[in-house]
Amino acid sequence: MQTVYLRKNASYRILNGHPWIFGNEIDKEDADIASGGIVKVHTHDNKFVGKGYYNAASQIKVRLLTRDKDVLINKTFFENKIAECWAYRQKLGYIENCRLVFGEADGLPALIIDKFNDYFVLQTLSLGMDKWKPAIVEALEKIFNPKGIYERNDVPVRKLEGLEEIKGFLSKPFDTKIIINENGLQFYVDIENGQKTGYFLDQKDNRRAIEKIVKDATVLEAFTYTGTFSLHAGYYGAKAVLGLDISESAVAQATENAKLNKLDKIVKFEACNAFDKLKQLTREGAQYDVVMLDPPAFTKSRESIQKAITGYKEINLRGIQLVKPGGFLVTASCTNLVKPEVFLDTIGKAAKDAKRVIRQVEFRAQASDHPIMWNMENTNYLKFLIVQVL
Ligand code: SAH
Repeated sequence: MQTVYLRKNASYRILNGHPWIFGNEIDKEDADIASGGIVKVHTHDNKFVGKGYYNAASQIKVRLLTRDKDVLINKTFFENKIAECWAYRQKLGYIENCRLVFGEADGLPALIIDKFNDYFVLQTLSLGMDKWKPAIVEALEKIFNPKGIYERNDVPVRKLEGLEEIKGFLSKPFDTKIIINENGLQFYVDIENGQKTGYFLDQKDNRRAIEKIVKDATVLEAFTYTGTFSLHAGYYGAKAVLGLDISESAVAQATENAKLNKLDKIVKFEACNAFDKLKQLTREGAQYDVVMLDPPAFTKSRESIQKAITGYKEINLRGIQLVKPGGFLVTASCTNLVKPEVFLDTIGKAAKDAKRVIRQVEFRAQASDHPIMWNMENTNYLKFLIVQVL
């Protein structure tokens, strides 16, 4: 096996458990290493660090898969790792649906697998992981005997690894519109055409966190996607709920979900631009007991973080203005580029501009099937805040 040698000063982060090795952290490497293949990584003074996959075309040249010299990277490796991931989720109480593999946080860099009961959706977001797709599919078949496996590799980030965007069946074809159970409700999940892998499993526990505050409430939700938060509100006893999303197909799906849960009398959806609608509602002096906001990332790059913060500030300012005195704002941010303290600061500034005092009820992160690695900041990505607006 060929070897890559780290620079003398480059290895602290890596020795501390971080699996990425950037091109500029490499001092020298053996000749003709095949991209996508497995290499050994050594320190500058030739001590073994680990084994990982290599891609000359990527900024992240190596991602480590093991730090154990004796572990072989083969089919069995992936089977064992996926079995470990499942054992961990089961320990935490997951039965039907969960993010089974959360990439780096599970020691499987650039691999995402969502489990929707008997159906699995996967993403291999790097060349080195993509090569193991057949082994991963075989492992899923062996461990779960699934009804279907689908790849949602239609993601631009694959371009950075020289990979194409593709999606399709990795098992026998199946009906890709499935129904899942969550917190006592049911939701259609469109595995083939839905956003990301079809459903946002990371908000599962946060959806439950609204239970007490929505009882008998009038609720407005912006960025509802397939209506999950709005329908939870209806289920937990809200009086009237309006969910907004810019995507017509998301709203159609949300409306179907309302019917599926017999909540269509209470929970309504509307396709519109939330920025415009929130502005219009504030102008009209509308007031709600609860306003919920779960916008998209607004940024994909460090360069445009400020743009994202401006977006968060604007919708949260509107959101706060739309809350009756003593009502609640439920607000989230799903990009790791906006750090928790920056997010909280932004909400604080929005409240100040709205001349309202906020009182924190809860501050949460993503569900525990998306573990946060304390040595990998970007795994701590979801912020979820409930405040009372006085
Ligand atoms: N809360 C949802 C996830 C929301 S994802 C859940 O838990 O499932 C963000 C959503 O915002 C997407 O559905 C996207 O279509 C929508 N969106 C993006 N820009 C928007 C805009 N300007 N106005 C309204 N919705 C928007």
